[in-house]
Amino acid sequence: MREPVEVCVSACEAYEYEKVRAVLAEQFRLLKADEVIRPGMRVAVKPNLVTRSTPDESAVTHPVVICAVVSLLKEMGASVVIAESPGGPYTPSLLKGIYEQSGCAQAEQYGAELNLDCTWGELKAPEARLCRSFSVITPLLEADAIVDVCKLKTHCMMGMSAAVKNLFGSVPGLMKPELHCRFPEKEPFGTMIADLCQALHPVLSVVDAVTAMEGNGPTGGQPRHVGALLASRSPYAVDLACTTIIGMDPESVYPLRSAMDRGLCPRTADDLVWLCEPASQFAVADFLQPESKSADFITRLPKFLQPLAARLATPSPKIRTAECIGCGKCAESCPQHTITIRNRKAVIDYTNCIRCYCCHEMCPKHVIDIRRLSLFRH
Ligand code: SF4
Ligand code: SF4
Repeated sequence: MREPVEVCVSACEAYEYEKVRAVLAEQFRLLKADEVIRPGMRVAVKPNLVTRSTPDESAVTHPVVICAVVSLLKEMGASVVIAESPGGPYTPSLLKGIYEQSGCAQAEQYGAELNLDCTWGELKAPEARLCRSFSVITPLLEADAIVDVCKLKTHCMMGMSAAVKNLFGSVPGLMKPELHCRFPEKEPFGTMIADLCQALHPVLSVVDAVTAMEGNGPTGGQPRHVGALLASRSPYAVDLACTTIIGMDPESVYPLRSAMDRGLCPRTADDLVWLCEPASQFAVADFLQPESKSADFITRLPKFLQPLAARLATPSPKIRTAECIGCGKCAESCPQHTITIRNRKAVIDYTNCIRCYCCHEMCPKHVIDIRRLSLFRH
């Protein structure tokens, strides 16, 4: 079946509930959302709640956007469950803490159930290029439909995190590092994410780009006002629109490139159909790219030069030791088990480091920098 290419991009200057709901209601109407959400359906809303973080840090989907989506789905006659597996262990207590801190707990007042069932099952991916089976959290497996409600962010490993990358949060807790180990290189990891997205097949994707994250996302960057909400029936089309907004080459967003290679998405945003405004109207000219972007040229070098160039140019995680509190979250999330806590400080053994930046992503104090050799700095 052909993937839709219609995308809605609309102005939304602030997180005011009535305004956000009105914008999304119009986008849902234009996208004919009632063709995919029908009365009586069990719908799982998949927000981005990557880590314990407040909405003003811009690492998580803003609760006003989640609440507005829940309210619209309820109005369409669906029952709604919020389903997310953040980084770290997948436990009810961690989920409760994250629902509270992110503000997502407010979705209960709009009729959503906050999932606390920390079981999972197997999802087959028959169309996959690389990974034909995934462990996926139960509420997403059991839902009649999935609505992806993500945040627009840069991503040190994948380039950008929006609708497609958000679905990596369907893999339960500490099984995510296992996938990093199986697919340590950026390109296969992106292919695996596209496999997962294709298997989960969200029927609607909403992107919170009122305030995005620029720089070293998905948790260590800075908030950047964009003033837009996006929606599409295709997670690939909406991600392609997002690359226009943040000035990123779509080919350098690994999951998106894999989606383009398998014909799920046009190669250029010029081939999308804009149902509201074109994404170019919201383009932020000086949107800060992640530090890791500079290493992307490696994949274009001759194969024999790539290992050496990668060693020299791929940035490494560096801990600002004086500020480290020794909490161990980085060690817990490291797929290579290459971080130890000594004298209440984290220490990285670089011999086995695959530069996945999970430690950077999960550090609650943001004291892990992404640094490249001075030769490769701007
Ligand atoms: S997660 Fe951050 S603060 Fe905690 S031990 Fe690691 S580097 Fe230190
Ligand atoms: S030290 Fe950090 S970047 Fe290196 S493998 Fe571990 S989590 Fe990934």
